[in-house]
Amino acid sequence: MKDILTFGRYLTRRYGERVYKISLNLSGFTCPNIDGRVARGGCTYCDNESFSPNLSGGKKRFFLSPDTVDNPLLEQQLREITVQYEGSKQHFTRDYGVRKYIAYFQSFSNTYAPLETLKALYEKALAYEDVVAISIGTRADCVDDALFEYLAALQERTGKDVWVEFGVQSVFDETLQKINRGESYAQSEAAITKAKKAGLNVCAHMIFGLIGETPEMMVASTKKVAELGIDAIKFHPCYVVKNTILANEYAAGKFTPISQESYVETLVQAIKVLPEDVVVQRVSAGIANETLIAPAWCGESKNRQMAVIKKALAAQGLRY
Ligand code: SF4
Repeated sequence: MKDILTFGRYLTRRYGERVYKISLNLSGFTCPNIDGRVARGGCTYCDNESFSPNLSGGKKRFFLSPDTVDNPLLEQQLREITVQYEGSKQHFTRDYGVRKYIAYFQSFSNTYAPLETLKALYEKALAYEDVVAISIGTRADCVDDALFEYLAALQERTGKDVWVEFGVQSVFDETLQKINRGESYAQSEAAITKAKKAGLNVCAHMIFGLIGETPEMMVASTKKVAELGIDAIKFHPCYVVKNTILANEYAAGKFTPISQESYVETLVQAIKVLPEDVVVQRVSAGIANETLIAPAWCGESKNRQMAVIKKALAAQGLRY
């Protein structure tokens, strides 16, 4: 049986012990695919505020963009890092004895803000002694040379790892158009190539079961994105949640979610085409609440999903 390079194995190897990721979800962040810079409404599967009244107490809510001159939410965002990081850390340290963490800037596009704001937030997270790395979720049209230069210098100065996680989803532009992604694969390719050249760690996010895609396309996407020299990859199935464009498409019979059987089979094939040194960070769906519409299997516990995936991989001599 051959071990897949899971994130857990990679982290233990790199840091000599278990490292947990702590998600940070900060106020004021949005995405150019939501706020109108590129498009409105976002990716078809994205649950965002464009579907609910964008009003709070009668006032329009404030969102950041790189053009924001003075960020009125900065103090609040810094406090949110403290509360979210320390709250999760307390739990993981007490219940699981974990001592090292990765601070993960997760929701929306976490580089879509003025560089001064980003510097303050990233450096606040990295200043925690137990934080060994930060990971920044974003998309290709929200990064530039100045950001990469800064992140590379930050990595050098702190001696801590900086990861950038790009939502790639598919390498097929016709699919990206169907999901209203608002960017092409060429943009992801260029951004990943630059991030790697700057010496940053890159994780690509891929979605299987996007509208109109065959399993062959999903495996081909994995192969092509891996050729960019990414360090890690995350896979997850496309599922339908309430208040999304995809929910409307599903209701109109225009979208059929991927079955668990097909997802697992495709995932196994995709892992088999990955170079052995690409870290597999995630392979399951992460939704277990009332917002899920379909498919039902995505609402099953992570343990149940992982049991099915592990069994399929084991049949191919691979241990997750
Ligand atoms: S890129 Fe991310 S945040 Fe932006 S619309 Fe798509 S899923 Fe939502």
